[in-house]
This record gives sequence, structure tokens and C-alpha cells, in this order.
Amino acid sequence: MLSNFKKFIKTIQHIDRGIYKTGADFAEVYARNAALEEEIEQKTRDLAQTNQTILTLSSVWDMMNSPEPLANVLDKIADILSTDMDYIGIIVLKIVYDDRGKQSFTIKSLSKSRFTSKIEEIIGMPFVGSNLPYNENSNLVKTINEKKIRTFHNISETVKNLFPNISEANTNTIISNFMAKSEIVIPLYKAKTPFGCVMIYSPRQEISDIEMNFLSLFSKQIELGITVAELFEEIKQQAVTDPLTQIYNRRFFESSIIKEAERAIRQKQPFSIISLDLDYLKRINDTYGHQYGDIAIKAIAGILKKESRAIDIYARIGGEEFNILLPGIDSNGALIAAERIRKAIETKELEKIGHITASIGVATFLEHSDRIDELIEIADQAMYRAKMNGRNRVEMAKKEKEATWQETAINTFLELVKENKLPVGQEVVDQITEKLNSVENKKQNTQEILCSIADIIEQTYNKMYKNGTTKSKIILASILAKRVNLSKADTDNLKIAMLLYDIGNIMVPNEILNKKSELSEKEIETIHTHPTLATQTILEPVSGNLQNVIEIIENHHERWDGQGYPHNISENQIPVTAQIVLLVDAFYAMTQDRPYRKAFTLDETLEIIREEADKQWNKDLVNEFVSVIQDEQVI
Ligand code: GH3
Ligand code: MG
Repeated sequence: MLSNFKKFIKTIQHIDRGIYKTGADFAEVYARNAALEEEIEQKTRDLAQTNQTILTLSSVWDMMNSPEPLANVLDKIADILSTDMDYIGIIVLKIVYDDRGKQSFTIKSLSKSRFTSKIEEIIGMPFVGSNLPYNENSNLVKTINEKKIRTFHNISETVKNLFPNISEANTNTIISNFMAKSEIVIPLYKAKTPFGCVMIYSPRQEISDIEMNFLSLFSKQIELGITVAELFEEIKQQAVTDPLTQIYNRRFFESSIIKEAERAIRQKQPFSIISLDLDYLKRINDTYGHQYGDIAIKAIAGILKKESRAIDIYARIGGEEFNILLPGIDSNGALIAAERIRKAIETKELEKIGHITASIGVATFLEHSDRIDELIEIADQAMYRAKMNGRNRVEMAKKEKEATWQETAINTFLELVKENKLPVGQEVVDQITEKLNSVENKKQNTQEILCSIADIIEQTYNKMYKNGTTKSKIILASILAKRVNLSKADTDNLKIAMLLYDIGNIMVPNEILNKKSELSEKEIETIHTHPTLATQTILEPVSGNLQNVIEIIENHHERWDGQGYPHNISENQIPVTAQIVLLVDAFYAMTQDRPYRKAFTLDETLEIIREEADKQWNKDLVNEFVSVIQDEQVI
């Protein structure tokens, strides 16, 4: 019995042990399964996230390759990223430098979110385009300098650094309003120099490894895009070919003639230039359509190519105007070359259009002028004489100087400085004096010097005014003057006015000119005094023969509909020259950033100008203007 019992116990123990053993196995398997399952789930989540990040990266890549301007692309990227990664808001900051190399941030782009619009509402100004302080000790700048992605939890630090003027209460409203738990700062570099950063506001406290990897890939993508976009801009800037004819453009011609003048002086060799303008192009356009006008222009380019020597440089300067540089050729040789070109043009027969002709002016360096700007100008004057004398002919430049507008302008600036009429700092006066003194150096281009003086003066009250803008304005105004058939005297006065029309602004308080919020009635009134300040307080006392220029400046804010200032005159009471100043000024003002708004795109600007036809400007002038902008490479 006992032995049976013992056997029984043994068996039980055996089973028990078995059960225990199996129990242990079960638990292990169960745990392993659970772990595996969890791992599979995690992997699936990771995969989904990786998938999402790849999709996001690939849309970012597509965006970067789109032909749209960088700012639009960055806006879209900020939106995609914000949505796909579930962020609250994204801001792309760019570092900008002022004339003295001082840094500040400008908002290049931001995602459309309640958060960003809320900040705009609180700070009371549009976000994009505003300049924000670049504080060396801020987390942002430190992160950019360290070149590493970093996360911060103290968001108010950034808000305070970027918007030092808003109150503590408003800072708190901003922060409580958008519920971000962390701020991720991604430094952006263009080549080896800091470009700016992306600031991401995340609803999550921490960022995962996957997110971090994604963000660093993303930043590389954006950096590549920025580099390519800016390189593209640079290349566009430096482009030397005219797209319609595939021959050189004005930019290339201008730089070639400067080099050629240096060489001519060094080697005591002459060179000549030819100014050529197609006759009656408007008639060809009107009769057969613009595309036939283009054919005529291309035909001229083809003939120049055929008739020129390998060392000659021929360029399309504007719509229907060409210049040719003939190294080593004196005036006799240039006349022969010009005549050969004239004949070749006259002889060629074009389909449908038939024969075309051109009027040509010739001028020779050192023989007609020792200044290149003057040389170009008198070759142009000779070409005009060819037009006046019946077209399809060649005229030689006159030795006596016909171009005097630059001299008048230089003398005006000299007087302004001498008479202490410029209420600007001594530093600025010195800069202007130095420029004026460099006129004596014959290799300098007087027009360039004049334009840079005007740039310097404008920058005393408009920090956003870019160097080179005055030069572009004068080119644009001159082309427009030609299109509306202004006389040479009017065109000369217009060019001088382009240098001086806003000079009254140096007497308008800077706070008003640069005010970001809406102006009071009194402040608007003050701004409206600038044309008369210019003419009566600054220019009148020094002007010898500026009367016609003064008339242009005085009226450069009068509107076609009579709603302008200071005299409320309308329509043909306003000189055409004054209308051109207003139009060119408005065009450049709109295409550049201002303290209270971002620059408009070219299309937006033209649209606004078109809408203002018959209101601010004469409609025909607007039509000519739009066609100039679309036809010519002046901007
Ligand atoms: P003129 O003999 O006095 O030079 O008369 P024109 O008709 O040639 O000169 P005008 O200055 O009166 O008009 C020039 C016209 O050329 C007006 C403008 O629309 C046109 N034009 C300018 N650029 C282009 C272009 O690239 N293609 C075409 N088809 N037309 C152009
Ligand atoms: Mg013409």
C-alpha cells in the first residue's frame, strides 16, 4: 500500500514537474511572442514613418526642382513638412547683411498655420520680409554656429529674441496660444557659410531618432536646393546672351567696351562702335504680328554675325537696337563696315515682310570722345540723326560734345555738397565727394558714378534700396522715353530727374519713411511734401539750368486721374516725363522689399500697374511700359 502510495506520489511529482516545466515553456513562448509582436508593430510603425518621410522627402525634392522662385518653394515645403510630420508651425529664417556687414534675420518663408497668423496679429506686422534681430547669444544663432540640429523647450527665449519689442504678456499669449512642447532648430548652410535656419514647432516633447535622421536628411535637401536656386540666380544675373537672337546682350557689351577702352589706351589703338536701330519695326509688328517683328530682329542678328570679323563684338542692346564693337578700327574703317552692314540688311529679303532697313550711327574712341559712356551716347545720337535724315543710312558721330546731361548732373551734386544742401552725415558727404572726384579719372563711366551717388543718397533713408537700382531705373526710363518719342532734351532732363526725384526724402523724418504700421494723416501729409522739399529747399537754390528737371520732380507724384500731389493736376497737364518717373519708381518700389511689406513678384507688379492704367498713369504709357518689361532685359 505504502509502496503504491510512494509510486503514486512519484508519478504526481513527475507530472507536476512536467507541468511546471511545460508551464515555464508556455510563459517563455508567450513572452517571446508578445515581444515579437511588439517588435513587429514597432517595425511596422517605423516603416510607416520611414515611408512617410521618404514621401515627404520626395515631395520636397520635387518642389526643389520646380521652376518656381525659391521663396514659393520654401513656403510649400514648410506646408508639406508641417502637415506630414504633424508640426505646429515652421519658419525658415535667412541671415541678411546690411551695407556695413551687420547681420539680421529675415523670414524667408513660413507654413500656413494658426500659430503664425496669431503671431502676425500680435506683433502687428506681416511676418515674411520683416527684419528680425540677430542676437549672438540667442539659442538660434548659437545653434547655427554649432551646425547641429538642436531641440529647445524654452520657447519664450526665441520669441523674446526675435521680437524684443513685444510685451511679456503678448509673449505669453503667443506661447500659450500655440501649444508647442518643443522648438527644433535646424541650421542651414550654403556651401560653408551660414544661410539661416529652419525653426520647427513640435507638439511633442522629444524627437525620435527616426525624426532626427529625417530632419538631417531634410536639411541637406534644403541646403542643396538653396545652393542650386541661388547659383541659378547668379548665373541668370551673369547671363550674357540675349534669348531671342542668341547673340550677346547689353551687359556683355558694356563690360567688353570697358575692357576695350583700357586696351586701346594701353596699346594706343583706336576702336569704333556702331549703333544700329531697325527701321519701322512697329509697322512690321502691327502689319504681320509680333512674331514677324521677332523674325526681323533675328535677321539683323544673322547679318551681323555674317558681316563681322571674329574679333568684333555685336550685341542686342534693347528691343530693336544693336551695338557693334570694332577693335582696332578707326572712323574711316568703321564707316566702311557700317555701310557694308547697312547694305546687307537692305538687300536681304524676308518671307512675307520683304525688305527691312536700319539706321546706323558710328563713333570712334579718342577721336570723338575719350569717355565710353559718352561714346555710346554720341553713337546713339548719330543713329538718331540717321533716322531724322530719312533712315536706311549711316551717320558719323559729331566731334563736338552733344552729351551734356551727365555734366549738368555732376555739377548739381558738386553744388549740393559745396552749398551744404544735403542734410546727411559727414561720412555720406565724404563718400559722395570721393565719387565726384573720381569723374576726373577718364576711365570711369560718369553715368555709373552718378547712379552710385544717387544710390548712396537713397540709402540714407531707405536701407532696403539695392545698389545698382538707380542705374536700372535710368535704363528703363530711357527706353520708355524712346518708345514714346521724347525729344533728346526731354530725355536728358528725365535722366537727371531720375537721379534726384526723391532727394526731398532726406528731409522727411526717417521714422515716418520706415514706419511699419499704418501712417497717420499728418504723417502722410509730411511724406507728400517730398517733391516740393526737393525742388524748393534742396534743388532750387543751387540750380542754374535745372528748371525743366525741377518741373519733372515737382510733378512726379501727380496722377492721371488728378488724385495725386502736390498740385492735383491731371491728364495732359502732367508732363509725360513726370509720369515716367512715377511709373519707373513704382515699378522698382514694388519689386523690392519695404519695411511694411515683402516685394511683389514681376507678374504681380505688372498686374497692379495694368490695373492702375487711367488712374495713376496714362493707359498708353502703361501699355508701352508692360511691353518694354516683357521685351527687354532691363531688370
Ligand atoms: P524707327 O524707324 O523710328 O526706329 O521706328 P520703329 O517702329 O522701329 O521704332 P519705335 O521705337 O517707334 O518702335 C519700336 C517697336 O519695336 C515697338 C516695340 O513694341 C517693338 N519691339 C521692341 N522689342 C521687340 C521684340 O523683341 N520683338 C518685337 N516683335 N517687337 C519689339
Ligand atoms: Mg526702330
